[in-house]
Amino acid sequence: MSASTPTTPDSTPTKPSNFLRQIIEHDLAGGTYAARQWGGSPGDAAHHAAGQSDPAKIRTRFPPEPNGYLHVGHAKSICLNFGLARDFGGVCHLRFDDTNPEKEDLEYVNAIKDTVQWLGFDWNANGVSHLYQASDYFDFMYRAAEYLIEAGHAYVDEQSAEAMRENRGDFGKPGVDSPFRARTPAENLARFREMRDGAHEDGSMVLRSKIDMASPNINLRDPAIYRIRRATHHNTGDKWCIYPMYTFAHPIEDALEQITHSICTLEFEDQRPFYDWLLDRLCEGGLLAQPHPHQYEFARLNLTYVITSKRKLAALVYDKRVSGWDDPRMPTIVGLRRRGYTPEAIQLFAERIGVTKSDSWIDYSTLEGCLRETLDVSAPRACVVLDPVKLVLTNWDDVMGAGFVDDCSAPVHPHLPELGRRHFKIGKEVWIERSDFEETPPKGFFRLFPGNKTRLKYGHVIECTGCAKDAAGHITQVHAKLIPDTKSGTPGSDAVKVKGVITWVAVADGISAQVRLYDRLFTDAQPDAGGRDFLESLNPDSLKTVTAYVEPSLISAKADDKFQFERHGYFVADRKDHGAGKMVFNRAVGLKDSWGK
Ligand code: ATP
Ligand code: MG
Repeated sequence: MSASTPTTPDSTPTKPSNFLRQIIEHDLAGGTYAARQWGGSPGDAAHHAAGQSDPAKIRTRFPPEPNGYLHVGHAKSICLNFGLARDFGGVCHLRFDDTNPEKEDLEYVNAIKDTVQWLGFDWNANGVSHLYQASDYFDFMYRAAEYLIEAGHAYVDEQSAEAMRENRGDFGKPGVDSPFRARTPAENLARFREMRDGAHEDGSMVLRSKIDMASPNINLRDPAIYRIRRATHHNTGDKWCIYPMYTFAHPIEDALEQITHSICTLEFEDQRPFYDWLLDRLCEGGLLAQPHPHQYEFARLNLTYVITSKRKLAALVYDKRVSGWDDPRMPTIVGLRRRGYTPEAIQLFAERIGVTKSDSWIDYSTLEGCLRETLDVSAPRACVVLDPVKLVLTNWDDVMGAGFVDDCSAPVHPHLPELGRRHFKIGKEVWIERSDFEETPPKGFFRLFPGNKTRLKYGHVIECTGCAKDAAGHITQVHAKLIPDTKSGTPGSDAVKVKGVITWVAVADGISAQVRLYDRLFTDAQPDAGGRDFLESLNPDSLKTVTAYVEPSLISAKADDKFQFERHGYFVADRKDHGAGKMVFNRAVGLKDSWGK
């Protein structure tokens, strides 16, 4: 565990505290939500009153709009909401926020469900599925709107969009009342029903809450709550031609679901007074159960070298800058998964970055560090040569015998002896990394150069004698002599001291594999900062594909299996392309943080 994870005296790791955990602890201690009833499903005040004492101590929710793939920022929110529910005896709802009729797609709904489960979370609790969709609440929302009209808290405004904007005022200027603001509830109700019945054009009028056009908080200057929009909704079809605005729908969704702690990102802070105003009115009217949910804001995740705007990510996909939403360079969860990220690594990351009330940037290396840390303890090791050149042991036939191949072995994992050993051959010819040989070595170079002794890891000590070149001067072979009786693990093998050790794969049993060397997708730490075109800093070298030689133990690798390729980093067998006789590995992360060095 990292130094930043506090431990109790018996050294069980505990969760770092954050302001949300403190709020929940305080609410639980004070019994704020102790008397809440739960009707067994979302519903109004009467529905919950007829239910039982809520078995969930708290209720949180993750409310994605099903209009794109989830990304690493959403992962922070998922880990936070589901994690708090888990840690405090609560439940977390997965709610599709599908009140906007135009953008939803079943492909996204399914992908989001898969992602939440893959991350290790479950919306089923005590045998009850808490998977909801906001569009199921349209009937209640409509009823709530009629209630507000009848109570004098809402009116139909027929000003043009332009006049409405003009009359809203700004920071320094109070708003101006709409000429339609003084209509009677009866007039408003008739008009609103006409809106619902399709008597008016899209955009010709809206239902607005009636609060205060002079409020210093512009969000309280009679925000719109229903608009006319003739659009077919994926769930409700053509039943409605009016749809609720997000700021009206969201608090109601939370309240119907008896959410206690409604956690959102900081940009909604200014909306909180309206959230409370609306729920207070609907509780007053007896429509919603009390105490109503409370909204808390936290800082969204900003990760360097990453963009999280759905629109911009979509552009990368449609312009074919990447191979799809699950391209291993994408910050989508499906992309991270294909890159080799594990749920454990992402959960560790979410925990480590914590929850704060002020925006900041998290360095991408923090995410990579979490992956490295979680894979190091478990990933089987393997030897792989990514940029092969042939090494010929010129005295092999004399000292070992012509045609002879010897057996070598290595631990599957250096700290997990129970995983056993991997076996491979050594013969007269082995593949080594091109960069492990230098004709004239730079200072501090201890690997192969003429006259120098080096160990083939898990094999013998060899002494380099030179190389062969083609007509163009390219090195085609490296030559060395094997020093007898130096094989690793045999008595006296360490009699010859060497400073360098290199990895290798025998020509006799090495297998050819495709390896994809991924790097950051952008060269700039904040690719879209200041309105810049993020495509300008697209990293041209974010993918390099090589044909490597891998040790024979990898023949049994299955898609999604992760390995440490010794000296190279952590790799995963590609979940789409690996298998059926084809070996394809993706670099998940290097062994060390080497970016920019
Ligand atoms: P868009 O990019 O279309 O504006 P969005 O990122 O807000 O969408 P939603 O589907 O509305 O996507 O998000 C679902 C939840 O995920 C919200 O509660 C939101 O607060 C949270 N979320 C989204 N992005 C981040 C982020 N970068 N960091 C933390 N939470 C996030
Ligand atoms: Mg959103």
